[in-house]
Amino acid sequence: MTAFIPPFCPRPGCEHHREAPGFRYHAYKPWGAYATKAFGPVPRFRCTACGKTFSSQTFSVDYYAKRVVDYEDLAGRLSSCECLRAMGRSLGLSSDSVSNRIARAARQAFAVESRLSRTRVLAENLAADGFETFCVSQYHPNNIHLLVGSDSQFVYAANLATLRRKGRMTEGQKRKRWRLERLFRPPPRAVERAFGQIAAECLRVLADEPRASLTLWTDEKADYRRALAAEPCVAFLAKEGRLVHRTVSSRAARTRANPLFPVNYLDRELRKDLHEHVRETVCFGRNINRQMERLALYIFAHNYRKRYRIPNDRRSHAEVAGYDPRRIAVELKLVWKRRAFLSLTETTPSMRDSWLRLRETPLKKGKDYLPRYAAA
Ligand SMILES: [Zn+2]
Repeated sequence: MTAFIPPFCPRPGCEHHREAPGFRYHAYKPWGAYATKAFGPVPRFRCTACGKTFSSQTFSVDYYAKRVVDYEDLAGRLSSCECLRAMGRSLGLSSDSVSNRIARAARQAFAVESRLSRTRVLAENLAADGFETFCVSQYHPNNIHLLVGSDSQFVYAANLATLRRKGRMTEGQKRKRWRLERLFRPPPRAVERAFGQIAAECLRVLADEPRASLTLWTDEKADYRRALAAEPCVAFLAKEGRLVHRTVSSRAARTRANPLFPVNYLDRELRKDLHEHVRETVCFGRNINRQMERLALYIFAHNYRKRYRIPNDRRSHAEVAGYDPRRIAVELKLVWKRRAFLSLTETTPSMRDSWLRLRETPLKKGKDYLPRYAAA
């Protein structure tokens, strides 16, 4: 048995539940061990301050899991258009277990992003737009808003708004929509509210910037303009000229010269890399929260693993955006080992909605199941 040293007490609320430079946790004593098939003997401990008992597995990404899965491989498969069932067949897991591992990996990705974003030094403008897809059925379309770096194509934020089905429909389809809307109707002004979170993320980026002002490019959708005006801090900075909102027609040619190229590029990548978003696919999302967990893991792989699109440039999108390569290397070494705690992670509202599975899936009764440890 290798000597495991608990980094802190895992009980939120305990005085020793913290991570800080120089902090060493000593207030625990050994509390036996138990044997497992997957992980061998697991040592247990007891916190002498709060009485909580825990094991080395409490700090592992595989807490409560019975099988060892290669998360790096999983992220690679997900980002290479492999569907859940195919992944399950290759890895010898049920599709539910694959989803469970993707959820764990997504939470790890959020924690890494949260820690790394505190030290980034950025110097680029941003572009934002909604990626149109659906969940459950085509009667429940949604917009995934992406905030992307103009030069780096790094994804700073993503959130989702479920919409009402619009566009041309047969009489039969209209009747079906009417029946379904008696069971579920998306919240009004969903795009505007979701885009408000994107606007708030711009403020975080602006706070990091060594420059005095930042330009946000979007298309001419009135919802975006309203969302920016509704956020008091954003409106204030816009008035001061520090946050400049510029628009371009969504009908403009989708070339590299288009200021919306970064989001158009991500649209293309998502359509070809994530199976559920491929056009005319038989594979589609059935649960909003799981759809966002897959997206989170995809964005993590895009930001930190995939190389920047310029040939011969070996940097990741994060490095191009101004993230420190040494810190990235340290985080990536531990990302699939050390379990992320929500209580020790600074989350954005959108991250928190994904982590706690708070989004509502159309037609689904009740809240999504979230293991108790995941909310700790
Ligand atoms: Zn404790």
